[in-house]
Amino acid sequence: MKDDKVEKSPEEWKKELTPSQYTVLREKGTERAFTGELWDCHDAGTYRCAGCGAELFSSDTKYDSGSGWPSFWTPASKDAIAEESDTSHGMRRTEVTCARCGGHLGHVFPDGPKPTGQRYCINSLSLKLDKKP
Ligand code: FE
Repeated sequence: MKDDKVEKSPEEWKKELTPSQYTVLREKGTERAFTGELWDCHDAGTYRCAGCGAELFSSDTKYDSGSGWPSFWTPASKDAIAEESDTSHGMRRTEVTCARCGGHLGHVFPDGPKPTGQRYCINSLSLKLDKKP
């Protein structure tokens, strides 16, 4: 467990997040494809967790996967995220969460580009872009 881990009650999260952010981050919801703010964003910067502000992804590793969700081929660091097997909705997937606050981010699939071959498919609602000044 990281010492800067963020733990909050559902009531506390509800006060800080918008209802749609809460649904995705705390209830593992998924925004509809091509509806989020960031899938087609090409600005340079750091993508942080919308729940706790942890640094999760860099715009340098973002690419257009055609999925309609922000996609990255690697996280900012290995410790930034946690991966867990997810068999909900009749699918076998790997869920990706923020290692610091446990917020649901999306899923990772083994059909990404080089050099990792990974596709981190992340909800816009789970992210906040810190644009490079
Ligand atoms: Fe977080």
